[in-house]
Amino acid sequence: MGFDKQSEKDARIKNYLNVLEILSQSTDDYLFLWDMDKDENWFFGSVDAEYALRDKGRPTNTTAEMEAIVYPADRALLHEDLTEIASGKKQIHNMNYRWVNREGEAVWISCRGKVIADEDGSPFVMIGRVSDTALKYLYNPLTRLFNKTKMFSDMQEGTLLEDGGYFMLLDVDDLGDINLKHGRKYGDAVLKSLAAAMEEIVQSQKIYHIEHNSFAVYLDVETEREVCIVYGRLQQLMADKCTLSAGVVPNNNEMFKEKNYLYDCADQTLKKAKENGKNTIAFFSEKDMENKLSAMELLAELQESVKHNCEGFYLCYQPQVKAGSYKLYAAEALLRYNSKNRGRVFPDAFIPILEDSKLIIPVGKWVLERALQQCKSWRRVYPDFRISVNFSTVQLREKDITDKVLEILDKAELPGEALTIEITESIRMEEMQYYNNIFSRWRNAGIKISIDDFGTGYANMSYLRDLEVDEIKIDRMFVKGIEEATYNYHLVNNMIEFAKMNALRICCEGVEDVHELAVLEGLSPNLLQGYLFDKPCESREFEQFYIDKESGEYRKHLEFVQELYQYKEKMRVLYFDPKDILRTTDVGLWIIRVDLEKQHFELHADDTMERISGVDKKYTPQEFYQFWYERVKKEYVSYVMENVSRMIAADKVIQLQYPWIHPTLGEVTVRCSGRRVEDSDGMITIEGYHRIISTIEEAYKE
Ligand code: C2E
Ligand code: CA
Ligand code: CA
Repeated sequence: MGFDKQSEKDARIKNYLNVLEILSQSTDDYLFLWDMDKDENWFFGSVDAEYALRDKGRPTNTTAEMEAIVYPADRALLHEDLTEIASGKKQIHNMNYRWVNREGEAVWISCRGKVIADEDGSPFVMIGRVSDTALKYLYNPLTRLFNKTKMFSDMQEGTLLEDGGYFMLLDVDDLGDINLKHGRKYGDAVLKSLAAAMEEIVQSQKIYHIEHNSFAVYLDVETEREVCIVYGRLQQLMADKCTLSAGVVPNNNEMFKEKNYLYDCADQTLKKAKENGKNTIAFFSEKDMENKLSAMELLAELQESVKHNCEGFYLCYQPQVKAGSYKLYAAEALLRYNSKNRGRVFPDAFIPILEDSKLIIPVGKWVLERALQQCKSWRRVYPDFRISVNFSTVQLREKDITDKVLEILDKAELPGEALTIEITESIRMEEMQYYNNIFSRWRNAGIKISIDDFGTGYANMSYLRDLEVDEIKIDRMFVKGIEEATYNYHLVNNMIEFAKMNALRICCEGVEDVHELAVLEGLSPNLLQGYLFDKPCESREFEQFYIDKESGEYRKHLEFVQELYQYKEKMRVLYFDPKDILRTTDVGLWIIRVDLEKQHFELHADDTMERISGVDKKYTPQEFYQFWYERVKKEYVSYVMENVSRMIAADKVIQLQYPWIHPTLGEVTVRCSGRRVEDSDGMITIEGYHRIISTIEEAYKE
């Protein structure tokens, strides 16, 4: 290179530097010039205040020195880009990456630059700017990963997803519990180390911390197997801190033209993983795709209906009768939809769609108006007839819902007593105050509040004490087979006793046969509802069976009630006082606690359990466990232990039956049911009921 050329370049550079110096006065960004021949990076503004630049007493930094303050995970990408620029392949530099400041914190910067070529067309400087504030709203301050806003904008711009690869949502399971147990700081540290682990394994910038415990990542791999390997490694790295659930969708541009849609699907798939017990990975399937499409079609149809005054919707009514007399007390209004394309649709298919789309708000209003009209007309025959209407929490969160309901009630010219509002038990502690404000105003107007599906939620009973309600509806899952399952029996018994202590009305749902009825009545709830009495039916049919005293159907209904009375007479001894029977038929309560690491087992037994097991001395819990275990008939030990493992793994009641060697009676059959409850003293805890069915059968024979 000739001397002239070089000095001319130097002169140009000097000129640029002067201009940049002046411009830098009017911006918070750091302007820069990279002199490629000399490898000198000039920065303007007080960049050295926050970042370790210009520390060598020189006004410039080499590219290597500059790269030293780049966040390690981003170095390779930056280096690659700068190499391309230096070689003339690229003229524009436009990258988001992280610098590490003097405090050691990562800061996202947006860096843009343009290459200037010399007379021969080869690059010799790049001029640009670095901003460490432009991206502030786009990353999570804790993990310094990009956030959800950035993820969506990257999706929109097409920089996140190439065609192919997989999109994964990843959740830390039970972060709330982790925070509670070890403190918030520890929870934050878990999130940070997961972020680091993801960066280590994935080595890309397509990692997002989208909210609290949720992360998203795009994986540029070809098979599900490869995705599983990544997931497995993450699990391994985090094993001592937390478990992870993942929902994965193959990225297929054809399938997911609309990018939000891909996120939705991943979100649903993640839910699937959680429903499968967490700590697991789930993939989006063809079937999921079909369901999603079908839900979208249905949504479009429902939207049309709502526009046309809820055309296609109608209500069915299911009777609630008084326990003991089986006289009609009320009806629950249940929503149905008649679809043009698919005929009758049941709520399980459309309620979630209405809720997600908030259409439940106008539809819920329509239901309330409709149900009250119906109630009013039936009240002409049955003056204290009542109607129960379901409300979802989406409706309850609507502004002014309190007044709106009172207005509708007012317009219907009905007293508050005519209406019961059923809500599902998913109210969290923090929201209690909000709901109580609503409920107390409704209750002042005479409306009754009922907790639906009681027992299925995560809340325990004591929370009911703080909630302003009048009724609980015990879910059919506990009523089902109650005459067989002692666990359910005790549970329902406890619920009812608790409700009575708190002066709550109790309605048992899902009563399907007379055996269930018989056992339930022994526990004396107030109301009964279920297929035994009637399925939900359309208003005309309901009228014939329950309201119109002249109709043949009404007589049939009366006859049926007579039959129930007779049955009850006949079975009194066996069923209708089961409390006493059970007391004398020896149902034992046990709690097993396990420390798997130490292989430590305890069995805590109540008095009945001790007595029916035939022990002749006081055992410690460890000894009792040993005593019980050794007496399980040998061939059944593995079956019993498998079921104990199932109890530990599943969030539901497990029942089993096995031969057991009783110290005095010899071989007996034990029936037992149990479920996992909250850990105690750091040990896995399961509890349940135990009875020797051979002796129960004896009891019935007498
Ligand atoms: P839910 O409130 O628990 O309603 C009771 C459900 O159990 C009804 O299902 C009913 O048909 C069914 N059922 C009643 N007796 C028996 C029985 O003996 N055995 C069995 N196996 N099932 C019985 P349905 O009508 O399909 O409603 C499902 C859910 O949809 C309801 O559960 C409720 O949560 C929701 N839902 C229905 N209508 C409305 C509505 O107007 N608004 C809102 N927000 N939700 C509604
Ligand atoms: Ca209900
Ligand atoms: Ca229910």
